Amino acid sequence: RATAMIVIGMAGSGKTTFMQRVNSYLHERNQPPYVLNLDPAVMHLPFDANIDIRDTVDYPEVMKQYNLGPNGGIMTALNLFTTKFDQVLSHVEKRANDVDYVLLDTPGQIEIFTWSASGSIITDALASALPTVVVYIIDTPRTTAPATFMSNMLYACSILYKTRLPFLVVFNKTDVQSHQFALEWMRDFEQFQDALLERRQTHGDEDGPAYQDSLMNSMSLVLDEFYKHLRAVGVSAMTGEGMDELFDAVQEARQEYEREYKPELEKLY
Ligand code: GDP
Ligand code: MG
Repeated sequence: RATAMIVIGMAGSGKTTFMQRVNSYLHERNQPPYVLNLDPAVMHLPFDANIDIRDTVDYPEVMKQYNLGPNGGIMTALNLFTTKFDQVLSHVEKRANDVDYVLLDTPGQIEIFTWSASGSIITDALASALPTVVVYIIDTPRTTAPATFMSNMLYACSILYKTRLPFLVVFNKTDVQSHQFALEWMRDFEQFQDALLERRQTHGDEDGPAYQDSLMNSMSLVLDEFYKHLRAVGVSAMTGEGMDELFDAVQEARQEYEREYKPELEKLY
């Protein structure tokens, strides 16, 4: 039975490029995935989607009709799509025994999916039908400042606790910036604290006032527990580097779903 991967991440982190890479990687291995695009605002989709939100809702028309700006328009388009998600899910379920992976791309602005009723409905419905893994994409070159890194990890932490699903952090764009520093900061909070101090010395108040460092020092201790249970891999969606490790981690996450999420689900239904 297929594994579903819900791809989320900040705008510009590389979700769509990652989808394209995963899609072509699986095609090369004769394991074509079942692909869903949930971003109503995407102009050009660099992969073929089996289900595309744009076929159901006309995003520019939604903005006009309801007098909305871009974010309100995306949100409303997603809400309209979600009212038909039972039909979408029955299509997915029909194919779930023939494919190994179901891929979901989500809207550019992360909070539209992670903090909306529609996002929760889609995530929960999918996770009760199929083994589901949340793939959190991080823009590695843009997260080398310790303060940015920490806010990104706190965001990851909040999504993990909201969905309770197996979670995988993907440091993307390793062709531009290796993710080694991130792995070291996660493994050893003293290295993070040293980096914080060094950054303060070299960049002054650029990332924020000095008093925030003591808060971040304390938080790195708190996050230590979170990091211990976190799967993280580095990839380049551009070059395809790291794809084998990615799929190993997805398989591990799937086992976690079977072991931890599924029994909870069975208690509920
Ligand atoms: P999304 O908003 O998360 O869907 O991000 P996109 O997939 O549209 O990518 C945003 C930008 O990052 C684009 O200019 C991509 O070409 C670029 N990008 C994505 N992945 C990579 C990567 O692995 N390496 C490099 N160098 N650029 C990337
Ligand atoms: Mg995108």
